[in-house]
Amino acid sequence: MNRKRNVYAGGNDLEERKPVIMVDMDDTLNDFAKTYWKNYNEMYGEQVDFQTVNNWNLQQFVRPDVDAYGLLRHPGLFRHLPLRDYAVEFMQHMYDRYEVYIVTDSPPGTSHCDAAGAAYSNPADDKRKWLAEHFPFLPQDRVIICAHKWMIAGDVLVDDKPATFEKFTELGKKCILMDMPYNQHIDTKWRAHNLREAEQMVEAILQESAPATSVVR
Ligand SMILES: [Mg+2]
Repeated sequence: MNRKRNVYAGGNDLEERKPVIMVDMDDTLNDFAKTYWKNYNEMYGEQVDFQTVNNWNLQQFVRPDVDAYGLLRHPGLFRHLPLRDYAVEFMQHMYDRYEVYIVTDSPPGTSHCDAAGAAYSNPADDKRKWLAEHFPFLPQDRVIICAHKWMIAGDVLVDDKPATFEKFTELGKKCILMDMPYNQHIDTKWRAHNLREAEQMVEAILQESAPATSVVR
């Protein structure tokens, strides 16, 4: 059943519009951490197990002579990240049922004015191409690049970052936490261990949020 409008106006008006679902990319739809640490280990001859990285601050886990955040400029890093199991089905279902937006942060890449000879990287465009490859049904204008995700108007966010989850909770906004080693300190019933669980939780949160009747699709 089509709703009367699809415009998010804030507030609990889910009987009148499609819910807006916001989906993170890194370590939500793809295996970022596993790939990042594989690259690091290969480049520096180290043996960091990504499952032991139990803090959001990457710098604590690399050698002192390595810029952990500089490694985010590794050419093509965000273009070739492995897709998580059920990611295509999850996004297809979100797209079919709701207003779905990708909400992702992106590190800076190589700008036109950077020093000549710098290894070229453009994480934001690599992310857009990755999305177009794996989710061709998703319009390109459904991508919001933003670090402060709690500023985005939407009903449910799926994300792995502890600070984002905590900020959403503090503001009374809904967030499903994708299980990762660095967010184990968070105690929530909205912890999803995979995207099948995340999909079930999206449905459950919307059912809880529906004012009088169940959510109509
Ligand atoms: Mg993430």
